[in-house]
Amino acid sequence: MKPNALCPGTSLLLAAIVTASAASPVFDWPQHDSTRPHPAIIDPGTAGTADKPGRPPSDATVLFDGSSLGQWAALDGTAPKWIVKDGVLECVRDSGYIRTLQAFGDCQLHVEWAAPIPAQGTSQGRGNSGVFLMGLYEVQVLDSYENVTYADGQASAAYGQFPPLVNAARPPGQWQTYDILFTRPRFNDDGKVKSPARLTVLHNGVLVQNNVELVGPTGWLRRDPYQAHEDKLPLSLQDHGNPVRYRNVWVRELGADAKRREFVYDHATLDKLAGSFQTNDGAKVKVMRAGDLLQATISYPGRSLDFLMHAESKTRFYIRSFDGEVNFKTDDSGRAESAVLRVGPDDKPARRE
Ligand code: MG
Repeated sequence: MKPNALCPGTSLLLAAIVTASAASPVFDWPQHDSTRPHPAIIDPGTAGTADKPGRPPSDATVLFDGSSLGQWAALDGTAPKWIVKDGVLECVRDSGYIRTLQAFGDCQLHVEWAAPIPAQGTSQGRGNSGVFLMGLYEVQVLDSYENVTYADGQASAAYGQFPPLVNAARPPGQWQTYDILFTRPRFNDDGKVKSPARLTVLHNGVLVQNNVELVGPTGWLRRDPYQAHEDKLPLSLQDHGNPVRYRNVWVRELGADAKRREFVYDHATLDKLAGSFQTNDGAKVKVMRAGDLLQATISYPGRSLDFLMHAESKTRFYIRSFDGEVNFKTDDSGRAESAVLRVGPDDKPARRE
């Protein structure tokens, strides 16, 4: 073929590449544009040592700093039963998984953990726990130092799907680090997968998962397909019956998802906000719990609107489907007495009926 003799499909391909490039954010700005906004300046923190955890970056959300489990709950939102002692969080057998109160989507997550000493058990029975992104996608925690198990179940495996690229495990008792980059799955309106979850993991600073595409939620002896879920869900840590220890857990929310913080509270807390309210301009607002969220119907004569509400705090909720939020005023027991519904620029005070 002559150098300039393009076959018929090539020009189309080139056009597609040019179109894709033009849509890239790189080309939204002239090169070296002095008006292009600079990234935020942060303090990057410090690395940990064998004796002492490091300091998280200044823009991280600290999930466990050694002092309390204030950012955590049992899966049902009630108080967690894992123990905090000497600045370390330890799994308590049969107490159940724990989860964060805050929900996360795309994120950078740092976790330090240590397998129990003396080592007990073999294979999956030795130092087993797990870090679950969105409560669904497990990066395996296991004592994989001189402990053979199936490859896709060893430490830092995307459990049941991808073995780590290398076994970078330290001996039990020594602190180990996971630095995890997670991109949540995206779903179309019809619930089909638009893009799968992606996972990168460094174990003790060594790359062990390189942007792998998860095939669905992780599981034992099963590979379930994706099911559409919320954009943000709590992180959880697994109780697999072994006293695995954790310290210095922090997360940085990434991308557009980072703009709005979201929390998942226990049902009793949400149920106290449910009820019927009436706005000053005569609308009725019925608030109900819908799973872990609140749902509301606002009704004027002849028309009504349903919407879901996501918690930004125990009393402040925002609405995704339009520009709005609801601020509840509660009594000492947490029961909502009144609320202010904001729709666009308009505040609509409402009293419980
Ligand atoms: Mg596990």
